[in-house]
Amino acid sequence: MAALGEFALIRQYFAAAACAAPRPGVALGIGDDCALLHLPPGERLAVSTDTQVAGVHFPHDPDPFLLAQRSLAAAASDLAAMGAAPLGFTLALTLPAAEPAWLEAFARGLDVMARACRLSLIGGDTTRGPLNINVTVFGSLPAGQALLRSGARPGDLLCIGGPTGEAAAALPLVLGARAAVGAGDAQLLARYWTPQPQLALGQALRGLASAALDVSDGLLADCGHIATASGVRLVVEAPRLPLSAALRAAAGDQALTLALSGGDDYVLAFTLAPHAVSALQVAGVPFHIVGRVETGSGVALHDGAGRDITPASSGYQHFGGADGQA
Ligand code: ADP
Ligand code: MG
Repeated sequence: MAALGEFALIRQYFAAAACAAPRPGVALGIGDDCALLHLPPGERLAVSTDTQVAGVHFPHDPDPFLLAQRSLAAAASDLAAMGAAPLGFTLALTLPAAEPAWLEAFARGLDVMARACRLSLIGGDTTRGPLNINVTVFGSLPAGQALLRSGARPGDLLCIGGPTGEAAAALPLVLGARAAVGAGDAQLLARYWTPQPQLALGQALRGLASAALDVSDGLLADCGHIATASGVRLVVEAPRLPLSAALRAAAGDQALTLALSGGDDYVLAFTLAPHAVSALQVAGVPFHIVGRVETGSGVALHDGAGRDITPASSGYQHFGGADGQA
């Protein structure tokens, strides 16, 4: 980066950020060739990386304050899904130009989400090019306690950590196809730009959940990953899905469809044995029971009477068996 100077930019906006301050667990932060992380004995390092590309993951010319929050949240959500405690993150930033106002707002947004997630900025890379944000997150968890996708068992309940569909309902607002009006639309936009990774829920699920992931590609699609990894069938009961008032108001009769197949939710979906429900309730983290685990394969959608209403449209075919039904 020429205009501002790569090193001045890193120093001013990132090394000096509050989220880059020293903390336990980070033995060495920004400034050398590598950061050094400290893990207590018996802990494992959880690592995940996430890239956001202009025009693909977000519209061109986004608000940098919001973009930074969304980029970090999307990556941190993977730590939540694993049950990891947040530690730090690196930021590989590709920018078309070094504009101080843009960088200042971006760094401020990064700080907001880093504080909310208790993640420290420990390093990164800064280059010139089309806008691209890569965040790698690091977390820790006791050996053997990671929440994998592969442990769901028939008889378990299927749960989600919050309502789905709101981020998808925000898309017309994000893309400028519709103007935002009222508190409901503000809620949808917040869900899209500033999702809150469910880190407390993920850690509460250690030792309780049999499988977990974060919903980023749509609830049915992501449940399909648990079904495949665990060798089971997941049944989603449509009437149990929490549909927010904001989602209903914006999406009308498409609300259920968005809750099932819209993306960018960043809430956790997990399975747990029925006897673990009370222990999770004691932990005080909100969750909704939305279905169950059976023998078989794929994902099915049931109505309130137990009838199979799995969408047969081509968009859903890969969730089910050979005939497109689970
Ligand atoms: P190197 O050339 O050894 O990869 P750099 O010159 O790219 O190192 O970066 C110098 C230091 O600044 C490193 O510690 C690196 O992790 C950090 N850094 C670079 N870009 C960023 C950024 N966007 N955010 C945070 N830290 C960064
Ligand atoms: Mg470098």
